[in-house]
Amino acid sequence: MKKFTFTLSCILATFAFGQQVQVERCLSHKAIEYQDSLTPGFADIVNEQFEIAKNAPLKKTDEVYRVPVVFHIVYNNDDQNLADSVIMRQLETLNQDFMRQNPDTVNMREDFDIVKGYPNIEFRLAQIDPDGNPTTGITRTETDLESFADFSIISGSFDALERIKSTSDGGIDPWDTERYLNIWIGNLDILGFTALLGYATPPVGLPNWPAGATAGLTDGVVVQYSVVGDNNPNEVDMGQGPLDVKGRTLTHEVGHYLGLRHIWGDGDCTQQDGIDDTPNADDQSDFDCDPTKNTCEDDIFGIDLPDMIENYMDYSAETCQNSFTRGQANLMRAVLENQRIDLIEDNPASVVETESIDVQIYPNPTSNSFTIAVENDLIDQYELISLSGKTVLRGSIESVNTEVNVNSLDNGMYVLKLSNSLTNEVVSRKVVKM
Ligand SMILES: [Zn+2]
Repeated sequence: MKKFTFTLSCILATFAFGQQVQVERCLSHKAIEYQDSLTPGFADIVNEQFEIAKNAPLKKTDEVYRVPVVFHIVYNNDDQNLADSVIMRQLETLNQDFMRQNPDTVNMREDFDIVKGYPNIEFRLAQIDPDGNPTTGITRTETDLESFADFSIISGSFDALERIKSTSDGGIDPWDTERYLNIWIGNLDILGFTALLGYATPPVGLPNWPAGATAGLTDGVVVQYSVVGDNNPNEVDMGQGPLDVKGRTLTHEVGHYLGLRHIWGDGDCTQQDGIDDTPNADDQSDFDCDPTKNTCEDDIFGIDLPDMIENYMDYSAETCQNSFTRGQANLMRAVLENQRIDLIEDNPASVVETESIDVQIYPNPTSNSFTIAVENDLIDQYELISLSGKTVLRGSIESVNTEVNVNSLDNGMYVLKLSNSLTNEVVSRKVVKM
């Protein structure tokens, strides 16, 4: 809080002297405070949900969880309308970081070998939009707004920033936030100075949302266009030369989206991030890489580890960030298994149409019925699941062609889950009732 006020005061003060502005990296913590001001008790719910996720026994430890993602590019000029190649590089970085396959893990100091973590989470561009149509997973929206940031964020308001998430306010509406990770990319400059790199909303677990509470932030991640992708042609000038962008802003923000806090717990040594194996720090790094820091005494497996500038949830330079801890990885997987389970379970948005078993569904879309055509013996059961995760039809498959009547069902998208009860093989297909 102090830092942010100071920074923006600096913006005001330094315009007069023509000096450069310090960039604020992330407002995810402030976003929780803002939500709490709109819906008192919101911060308590976020903390409660953090504890629930932290204490939840992990269901699966090895399986790669796949999250469908949509990038919404909202642009006011050609520079902001990032090329697909930039988005693809960003996605590659995000996936490497969350699979711990990034080449720079070799730069992690050996001290942290005992805590390094493998989230095993993969992000895939959505192949199907909320209407059931094929999509690239990238939307492009031209806006009249030169920037989504303004001085109102000094007072802690997110109203200006949130315009990017609303079609009627100059941005673009989200896709179903329970089924897609929505990432908005736009300009967050203030008077031509980059003031903010990004923010994300935390997992809250919808059943615990206070009754009647509608005001708040739209679920998802917002990122400044110039820090997306390590091949981004735009520069972020921080006063001491351009920022070395490695695409780690998105890694950091998706960490928040999946429940993580900053490693310094947004306080001094008395404030923790709630993750047992994250070395504590008394403050953020400042876009630097200082391996001499050990600001807080802690006891992690009996060792007082140095400050982990390698951690994605610090504010260190992107060039020295390369790791999550095991506790952070487990927390994010627990969030996907609980508060954000609709992203990974029976999610029509993540259905991949090319799978090993040859299944034909026709007609699809359909209004009355469809036929499941499958090679004999490979599949013996079917289940039709609604977007809310409810099984609306099930039955057995006894011949090559099985007709399924959907006359009584509501229009919309469904997941058809086909399984072999002996081998436990499962194939999913999307079915649209019109
Ligand atoms: Zn952050």
